[in-house]
Amino acid sequence: MEFETIIGLEIHAELSTKSKMFCGCSTEFGGEPNTRTCPVCLGHPGTLPVANRKAIEYTILLGLALNCEIARRSLFHRKNYFYPDMPKNYQISQYDIPLSKNGFLEIDMGDYKRKVGITRVHLEEDTGKSIHVGESGRIHGAGRSLEDFNRAGIPLVEIVTEPDLRTPEEARNFMIELRAMLEYLGISDCKMEEGSLRCDANISIAVDGVQGTKVEIKNMNSFRALQRALSFEEKRQKEIIIGGGKIPQETRHWDEAAGVTHTLRMKEEAFDYRYFPEPDLVPLEPDPQIVEELQKSLPETPGQRLDRFIRKYGLPKDTARVLVYDKKLGDFYEEAVAKGGNPVAIAKWLAGDFVGLLNEFSIKVENSPIGPHGISELILLVERGVISGRMAKDVLKEAFQSGESPAQIVSRKGLSQIADSEEIALIVERVVDDNPQAVRDFLEGKEQALKFLMGQVMKLSRGKANPTMASEKLRELLEKRQ
Ligand code: ZN
Ligand code: MN
Repeated sequence: MEFETIIGLEIHAELSTKSKMFCGCSTEFGGEPNTRTCPVCLGHPGTLPVANRKAIEYTILLGLALNCEIARRSLFHRKNYFYPDMPKNYQISQYDIPLSKNGFLEIDMGDYKRKVGITRVHLEEDTGKSIHVGESGRIHGAGRSLEDFNRAGIPLVEIVTEPDLRTPEEARNFMIELRAMLEYLGISDCKMEEGSLRCDANISIAVDGVQGTKVEIKNMNSFRALQRALSFEEKRQKEIIIGGGKIPQETRHWDEAAGVTHTLRMKEEAFDYRYFPEPDLVPLEPDPQIVEELQKSLPETPGQRLDRFIRKYGLPKDTARVLVYDKKLGDFYEEAVAKGGNPVAIAKWLAGDFVGLLNEFSIKVENSPIGPHGISELILLVERGVISGRMAKDVLKEAFQSGESPAQIVSRKGLSQIADSEEIALIVERVVDDNPQAVRDFLEGKEQALKFLMGQVMKLSRGKANPTMASEKLRELLEKRQ
């Protein structure tokens, strides 16, 4: 049997408008429960929705960025179902005539690219949030549930992909690409931990080219969880097929702690929702001139910026990716380059030590104690030979802790590397005298011995020896002994 994994995604992203989709309530996250509500988003009888213009523009902008066709005429529909977090008992959504459809997004997998079809991008409203009071925090076993409607009515874009993804890694990369796109467009804050970006997946296994049954998976709260859940599900389905079993069509729940999926409910069909056009809203007919203006206003996409970073600054792809797929880090990088210093060196320091320190101290780029100017200063200190790369690592860490600039730290601590050739010669001679075995190894052709000896030089000089000068001196001395 030949297996092929078929994956599609359904993504919801809250739009970062100031007010909700159909009323004037604030969309700000948090707040006392049920304080950011009004009769419209609480679904009181007799209230009328008014569509948020900004949310419509954002959705069109995203549609354009994802190479979609923008509808000349689009409708809102009611999606009817009962759930406590939805006071109207229907969600205003879009059904057969979404704002945009038939697009694509290309993802880079390193050694190949995958073009992923975008079925549709539509606009709808978010639901409220249920808080299940009990030990597990889940509905099962909860004593009671509370409802917070602050989130109800926040504009939500839904993005549905074609089943074009072939591996769990591709699904994860797609989400990285899409999140970056939303960030670059500035239309969503994409905080998975606050639920402003959510992703469900469907997965099936085709056997010898014959389509399999699609299973939907929910409750993945990070990109890593998405990849794990899909890998688990891929294996589970293959095992059932190999054992001669059938895959039922269902929705499964990802249990992050246990690392498994389990049945949530058997899949409902679209007709279960009794979709019908929303009678309280007029059809959406975006002015072609506005669509054209939005098209012209599209910013550089993450993919374009990646190409530019590689071309313009000569960055290796992996390094460029780290900078580009976090927009703020990419902005930080360009500011640092503008202040001076070798662009490749700046990129390597940012993608390496700098990101490491941000993680270590749990700080976001925008709150970094050392700004683009400071990074540029640090790299220039290294380039001018004032401090070594080894010393720069410590200086950077110190800057994170004290908030001082690299130059201040260097002068306060009297740091500067030993670039005096006599002084270096003395240190190197001592290392050679103290390590006769390593010297013999080197003379017998073992190149690693040189690394060891260099390590000793750095150790003896407490990291201060200029590495280039020291290694030249070391070779010179060893050749004399030959
Ligand atoms: Zn409201
Ligand atoms: Mn939806």
